[in-house]
Amino acid sequence: MVTDLVQIRRLGEMKREENSRFRLFLKRHSYVERKLKKLGEEVQDAIDCTICANCCKVAFVQPTERDIEGLAKFLSISRERFLQDYTMEDKDGDRVLKRTNAAGCVFLSGFDCTVYEARPRTCEFFPHVVKGEGPITTRMWELVDRATYCPIVYNSLEAFKVETKFQR
Ligand code: SF4
Ligand code: SF4
Repeated sequence: MVTDLVQIRRLGEMKREENSRFRLFLKRHSYVERKLKKLGEEVQDAIDCTICANCCKVAFVQPTERDIEGLAKFLSISRERFLQDYTMEDKDGDRVLKRTNAAGCVFLSGFDCTVYEARPRTCEFFPHVVKGEGPITTRMWELVDRATYCPIVYNSLEAFKVETKFQR
């Protein structure tokens, strides 16, 4: 299992093309969702997110209207104040949680999420290997990118390739 974040970045980038092919391969074949989920769970159980938090440093989070309401309530401020103080527009004009390249998400403190109880749904499901909407194969398109910064995604894809006998 690879957990070092420098290696994850290096290997995830090196295998970007391979992982894109694997994504298409999985889409064209039907595999038992339960098996892939179990493999993802095994990887997830072996990795400690509380000493990583790389997703909170790297990823952009687009909160839903429900997330915004929940976070504003959690912080005891108005929706408008929340939007002004804790969100920004990304390069595509979408509203995301405020972040900087150096520190990551505005709510990250060390390795901890300071709004954990009210964190956006997408954060709750992250990295969307074990949990998420629909079957794993429909969530695969984002996993190629996530494999460059998330140890759970990188190692899950490697385990899936062995399980499905994918030709590299
Ligand atoms: S989900 Fe991935 S990137 Fe985020 S903390 Fe866990 S292992 Fe690290
Ligand atoms: S809201 Fe919390 S879990 Fe979500 S990216 Fe920010 S720090 Fe991480």
